[in-house]
Amino acid sequence: MRYINFESEPEISPDDFFMSEALKEARYALEEDEIPIGAIVTHGGKIIGRGHNLTERLNDVSAHAEMQALTAAANSMGGKYLQGCTLYVTMEPCVMCAGASYWFQVSRIVFGAYDVKLGFGRLNQKITHPKTVITGGIRENECSELVKNFFKSKRGKL
Ligand SMILES: [Zn+2]
Repeated sequence: MRYINFESEPEISPDDFFMSEALKEARYALEEDEIPIGAIVTHGGKIIGRGHNLTERLNDVSAHAEMQALTAAANSMGGKYLQGCTLYVTMEPCVMCAGASYWFQVSRIVFGAYDVKLGFGRLNQKITHPKTVITGGIRENECSELVKNFFKSKRGKL
């Protein structure tokens, strides 16, 4: 299967490619002084939803990148469910977003950086849909550096 921009970077895997799109979203968040986390949803090799963290702009603590991307994807699919879809997100989803992926019946979740404090993986119970396949650690360093540098710069200003 071939994806856009493959000629220039023939070694890039589809997961790497789509994570770089989620990273673009994370950088949009950074430009808006939001915690830089980005997400996209794909279906059949196409991006059908994008989003980044908007908790400050919307003054809504639930406005995580995944929530934006999942809702946009469901709108573009014209249905409630996201079967056959993959959620790419730069940070391991929190319990709320993993729970949302259950309701949307997302087929696969691919995340970048692990979040040992707030990621859903800290729970011993599987809260994603039983059919959801999970892959972590894709472009992990780039994804975690963005967030680390964001908090470092915030601390510098205090
Ligand atoms: Zn979340």
